[in-house]
Amino acid sequence: LEPEIMEMTEDVIIIGGGVMGASAAYWLTRMAPGLKVLVVERDPTYARAATALSVASVRQQFSTAVNVRISRFGADFIRNFAERIGPAGEVPSLGLVENGYLFVTSDAGNAQVMREIAAMQCAEGAATEVWDPAQVQARFPWLNTADLVAGSFGPRDEGWFDNMGLLAGFRNAARARAHGSCGPRRPALRCRATASSGSTLPARGASPAAAWWLRPARGPAA
Ligand SMILES: Cc1cc2nc3c(=O)[nH]c(=O)nc-3n(C[C@H](O)[C@H](O)[C@H](O)COP(=O)(O)OP(=O)(O)OC[C@H]3O[C@@H](n4cnc5c(N)ncnc54)[C@H](O)[C@@H]3O)c2cc1C
Repeated sequence: LEPEIMEMTEDVIIIGGGVMGASAAYWLTRMAPGLKVLVVERDPTYARAATALSVASVRQQFSTAVNVRISRFGADFIRNFAERIGPAGEVPSLGLVENGYLFVTSDAGNAQVMREIAAMQCAEGAATEVWDPAQVQARFPWLNTADLVAGSFGPRDEGWFDNMGLLAGFRNAARARAHGSCGPRRPALRCRATASSGSTLPARGASPAAAWWLRPARGPAA
């Protein structure tokens, strides 16, 4: 770790400043005002971060109710991002474009499952519609629907948005709330090892938000 970081005493250190790390910093500082949070990010360009590479879409069409509920919250949060996160986020809009997701099947049995799942999604507040092939063709004229049995489409709360705006908003708002340091910091590899060993970071808690980048630590770095 950089000497500057080693000298700090934080309540929580989050390793990885992608959308999950920034979101964790935002919610922690929102739920526990005054908490000292440090986000350690090794690449401020986010060139290889999943957040930057993402298609950045949200959908309601999930097969379990809990996931639909999570995504109901997510779509509302994305649509009203500026209001939810406040002016400190410095992001006026995430530009949600609700163009919907289309799932298709050419199997009669799967079409029945599709109808049952759509009914569950609608019971949770989603707007999923199940279409026959003619309806799919009318909406997507370029699609070959010859072998389709059914398609499910979400006409609202599904579409794409500004992924880096989401990240920036969480980060800005967390920074504004944090009493300690909260922002991208550099490296990295030694931080990964010591954080995973749980022995040497000067914090009361460490949250890995570096996703698949993290591998099991073999012990503190030299
Ligand atoms: C091609 C693609 C399309 C996707 N499409 C969608 C979609 O449409 N909708 C959707 O909801 N999800 C989508 N996802 C998934 C979504 O992007 C990810 O779930 C999400 O971005 C993960 O965020 P994260 O912060 O966990 O990871 P990341 O964004 O990868 O952030 C991890 C950060 O940790 C940093 N890091 C790594 N190791 C260290 C270390 N040792 N020290 C310090 N920092 C470190 C990295 O530099 C990186 O910035 C997609 C993903 C991809 C790749």
